[in-house]
Amino acid sequence: MLNKIAIVTGAARGIGLATTKLFLENNWRVAMIDRDEAALQLTSEHLAGTLPIVCDVSIPERVQDMVSKVLVTFGRIDALINNAGVAVFEPLEKTDFDSWRTIMATNLDGVFLCSQAVIPALKESQGSIVNIASISALRASTLRVAYGTSKAAVVHLTKQLAIELGDYGVRVNCVSPGPVKTKLAEAVHSPEIIKAYYDGIPLNRSATEQDIAEMVVFLCSTKASFITGQMIAVDGGFDASGVGLPALRASRLRFT
Ligand code: NAD
Repeated sequence: MLNKIAIVTGAARGIGLATTKLFLENNWRVAMIDRDEAALQLTSEHLAGTLPIVCDVSIPERVQDMVSKVLVTFGRIDALINNAGVAVFEPLEKTDFDSWRTIMATNLDGVFLCSQAVIPALKESQGSIVNIASISALRASTLRVAYGTSKAAVVHLTKQLAIELGDYGVRVNCVSPGPVKTKLAEAVHSPEIIKAYYDGIPLNRSATEQDIAEMVVFLCSTKASFITGQMIAVDGGFDASGVGLPALRASRLRFT
């Protein structure tokens, strides 16, 4: 049986690692991409069917080399998961230009560079791209001027790619996770932010890494063969909710 080939960026841990494992369970082979060499080495060595490649997705030449290595080893590419991302939460006036550029370089430039580099291979395989944005792309929140803006741009970039690549049978979609307990979230989600999230999430919990991976792998499968240009929030209903959820929960407590 032919093994399909996925490139997953930011695969050394968190959502990228969970997505890698789920692809492997579905008989895909995975090129695991990360700039953290030590973590990548550690996590990939026990995962049969993977090709670890150290690469910073924000550096154009490295991205080209990375895609060449994947093609030399596997001969084809069926999916690209643009998952590598960085978060800095800080007030508008404290967001200096270096900080802004650091966020944009990985979260937006990286998605553009990796997507452009795999287009010839995806045209051949009629494969697909899944970009990982965030609920911060959909709802403006405090402290996320750079992060939220970078992720909103990823949502739009998804649509741009989808309309240009549709003629070739290449699909491009986007997943916007709600809060997931990963190292990235630990670094920026204070107890106050976590409480504020739960107050706005109808399902009243964080996502698991598996919740996100399931949607990504579905979007790359033939079950999603007529889905392109879409943004799907895997967020426990956060994007759908307005004001009033804490009050509703409190009133339920009073009436039960
Ligand atoms: P994480 O920090 O646990 O993992 C991210 C991985 O990406 C790390 O291994 C890191 O080394 C790698 N990486 C970062 N910059 C890179 C670069 N320039 N080149 C190559 N690798 C790089 O993060 P996570 O929580 O698993 O997040 C994955 C994605 O999901 C990110 O795009 C993030 O913005 C998004 N997201 C996360 C949450 C959350 O709550 N965790 C919510 C919404 C969206």
